Amino acid sequence: MRRAGRPLLQIPGPTNVPERVLRALAAPTVDHRGPAFEALSVELLAALAPVFRCRGPIVIFPSSGTGAWEAALVNVCAPGERVLMAETGHFASQWWKLAQRLGLDAELLPGDWRSPAEPDGVAARLAADREHAIRAVCVVHNETSSGVVSDVAAIRRAIDAADHPALLLVDTVSSLASLPYDHDGWGVDVTVAASQKGLMLPPGLGFNAIGPRALEVAATRSGPLGYWAWAPVIEANRTGRYPYTPATNLFYGLREALRLLEEEGLENVFARHARHAAATRAALAAWGLEAVCRDPAHASAALTAAFVPDGHDADAFRKRVLERYGMALGNGLGRFTGRVFRIGHLGDFDDLMLAGTLAGVEMGLDLAGIPRTGSGVAAALESLSSASA
Ligand code: PLP
Repeated sequence: MRRAGRPLLQIPGPTNVPERVLRALAAPTVDHRGPAFEALSVELLAALAPVFRCRGPIVIFPSSGTGAWEAALVNVCAPGERVLMAETGHFASQWWKLAQRLGLDAELLPGDWRSPAEPDGVAARLAADREHAIRAVCVVHNETSSGVVSDVAAIRRAIDAADHPALLLVDTVSSLASLPYDHDGWGVDVTVAASQKGLMLPPGLGFNAIGPRALEVAATRSGPLGYWAWAPVIEANRTGRYPYTPATNLFYGLREALRLLEEEGLENVFARHARHAAATRAALAAWGLEAVCRDPAHASAALTAAFVPDGHDADAFRKRVLERYGMALGNGLGRFTGRVFRIGHLGDFDDLMLAGTLAGVEMGLDLAGIPRTGSGVAAALESLSSASA
């Protein structure tokens, strides 16, 4: 039977794609070696710089975020070389597994999946690495499995305090254009991103924003390098071209998405995400559900992850919400499978969408027989109306 109304996509990415972006995507496919596309790609690379806050080259791959992870690693590390990866949660652990599959000597700095990357732990490990074997430190800025944000600038300070030459590689797949980010200012060497979250596009574009030291290291990296090599893309990009067929229609969507971000103003975009996150945390507290993020000071503005009480099944709850209200919530990943659900409040999202989302969660908790101590919706509305928009 047809369900009337709009499906609600409240997973923490892919996010809702705004109408203007959808219409832009529907443009006719063009010659990717023709003047119109070349001008578009030059325009886009310039327009992306303030979003990453990166003066260096930005490479766009037709890929998911995983491809952009791989690109970041293989351009600066050859097989056998060591990388240090902070275990913030499922996505950090996926990146670590990918590094291992690429033949890197990937060392995990253990974490509890509920806390940010530990600058002191990074500093101690680097200080012990006297021969400077560690080529890169990898950190997920916004861990999408837990809703915990790591302090990227503090990790940079830890690397510098240890007087270590390791590069800093940062995953912003679920933070870019939702949380404040400063590639140059925070001393990041490679930023990894993807199209389907804060950038409000469908999946399909992966990004590497590249700083000067990473470019230098890439130029001296030994061993063969295939599809993900930065150098041929950067070279072709000088005239707006690509060494392969780029995802042309997604570029039209990206132009429109960047216009939307500019019209709203990035600072306002960040403030909107922070308000929605605060209201969602107020809802959680009123329901009496425990957040996965241990310390609210590190809570994500892009998503909120919550445990269901022991003896309840988070996936059964999500299934009831999807069947009854047509709303998709994020699942618990890895060690959180069945115990956690995640509310995405990132991308093209406003107060009433959040109110509807939280109403769906509240009614779903009751449907699934999950006890709650009060009305999260009432608490969230109170939070929204008391915080200035
Ligand atoms: N990194 C983070 C923080 C993510 O949230 C995701 C996906 O959700 C990825 C990497 C992997 O991206 P993709 O699924 O586009 O390959």
